[in-house]
Amino acid sequence: MGDPQPDSSAAFRALPSVERLLGAASFEPLLARFGRELVLDAVRGDLDALRAAIRAGAPADLTQRVSDAACAERVAGALRRRLAPRYPRAINATGVVLHTGLGRAPLAEEARQALLSAAGACVLEVDAESGQRSQRDEGITELVRELTGAEAACVVNNNAGATLITLAALAAGRPVIVSRGQLVEIGGSYRIPDVMAQSGAQMVEVGTTNRTHLRDYERALDEHPEAALLLRVHTSNFRVEGFTKEVELAELTELGSRRGVQVMDDLGSGCLIDLSPYGLPREPVISESLAAGAGVVTFSGDKLLGGPQAGVIVGSEELVSRVRRHSLYRALRPDKLTLAALEASLSLFRDPARALERIPTLEMLARPLERLEEQARALASQLEQAAGLQVECVQATSKVGGGSYAVEELPTWAVTLRAEGQSATELAQALRRGEPSIWTRVADERVWLDVRTLRPGEAQEGATFPVGS
Ligand SMILES: *Cc1c(COP(=O)(O)O)cnc(C)c1O
Repeated sequence: MGDPQPDSSAAFRALPSVERLLGAASFEPLLARFGRELVLDAVRGDLDALRAAIRAGAPADLTQRVSDAACAERVAGALRRRLAPRYPRAINATGVVLHTGLGRAPLAEEARQALLSAAGACVLEVDAESGQRSQRDEGITELVRELTGAEAACVVNNNAGATLITLAALAAGRPVIVSRGQLVEIGGSYRIPDVMAQSGAQMVEVGTTNRTHLRDYERALDEHPEAALLLRVHTSNFRVEGFTKEVELAELTELGSRRGVQVMDDLGSGCLIDLSPYGLPREPVISESLAAGAGVVTFSGDKLLGGPQAGVIVGSEELVSRVRRHSLYRALRPDKLTLAALEASLSLFRDPARALERIPTLEMLARPLERLEEQARALASQLEQAAGLQVECVQATSKVGGGSYAVEELPTWAVTLRAEGQSATELAQALRRGEPSIWTRVADERVWLDVRTLRPGEAQEGATFPVGS
C-alpha cells in the first residue's frame, strides 16, 4: 500500500464516478437486466480494480479502459460470472455412464415431466379418496413391491441412508456379522465399518480379505447367539481375484433360518431386470435376493435403476415396518420431487423393453456397437467442419461407473480431437468451461468424446464446440 506515484493522480482523476457510469447509456441494459443493487456493487468492484491497476503503474491503455462502454462490458462479464448457476447443465462425453461428478443417472423424460408436475402442490401425504392423511411413500411402495416381489418397501434419500437406518432399526446394540471381504468403501465417505458404528450396531468381522466360509459365519453365530443380522454387502466397485471365496446368499439365508437370524443384503446398484441378455455381465437382481431368502435388501435409485438419488429398502413386512418406525426415517425421508421422479422411472420397468428404451442409463448401456459407430461417424463429420481441428473416429471403451460393474469395460466408439496450438488439456478445459459444459477424457495427447454417454440431440450441440480458437 505505497503512496501513489505523483504522475498517477491524473490517472485517478480520469476514473469515472459511480454516478456517471450508472447514468450512462451503456449501463441502461445492465440496470434493466440485473437491477441497481447488483450493478452498483459490480461497478464499485470494477473501479477498485482500476485503482489497483493505477497504483501498480498506470496502464498505457487507461483512457480506453475507463470509457463507459469498456466499464459496462467488464461489469456485464463480472455479473454474468457471479450470477451463473453453480449447477449448470453438462454434456457427458466421458463414456462413464453413471458419472457421479455429473449427477449419476440422467433422468428419463417421463421422470423429468413428473418432477415438473410435482414442483407445485401435489398429492403427497394425503389420500385423495378419503381426504385423510397418509404416508408419503405409500404410493411408491406399491410399485416397488410389484416390481421386486417384496412384501414391503420404504424409500429414503440414498442407499447410504437406507443401510444406516436399516442397521439402526434392526440391529442397534447387537452384533451384525459381515465378511472381511465385504467391508467396502464407496466414494470415500461411505464405509461399511463407519456406517455400522453410526447405526449403533456392533460389527463382527468374519473370514479373511480373500476367503470367507460358511463355517466362519457359523462360528460367529456360536459366539454371538444374540446377533441381529447376517450382512452381505455387494462388492460393486472392486474385484478380488485369484484364491477367493465368498458364501452365496442362499447358503447364508439357509444358515440364518436355521439359527433364527435375518439376512440383510446391501446390493448397492441393484438391478430390477437382468441385464445379461444385453451383453452386460450379471449384476444381482433385487427380486433374486428376496427369492434367495434375504429378509431385507437395500439399493440405490440413481445407479442401475436409472432414477433420481434415493435409497430403497425392500423386504418382509415385519422388518421394513420396523425401519419405517425408526426416528431416523423423518431425517432421511425423500422429498416430493424425488418420489415423483422415482415413481415415473420405476413405472417404466413394468415393461422391461420400454425401460431399456426410455431409461437413459439402460439405453446407454445396451446401445449396440453399430449404432455407436454411426453416431461417432456423424459427430466426426460435423466436427471436421471446424478449422484447426484434427478429428478421428476410433474404437474405445466405456465404463459403467457409479460403483457398478467394477472392472467391466464396454466396447464403444469415440471421436478424438487435436487442436492446433492448443494442448489436449487446454482443449478439454475450454470444453468444460463452455455452455453447456462438455466433459471429455484426455489420453494420448487427444480429447476423447465417447458417443455412448451423449443424449439425443447433444451431438448436434457439438457443432458449436469452442475449438481451434
Ligand atoms: C453405491 C453403494 C452404496 C451407497 O449408495 P448411495 O446411493 O450412493 O448412497 C452403498 N452400498 C453399496 C454396496 C453401493 O454400491
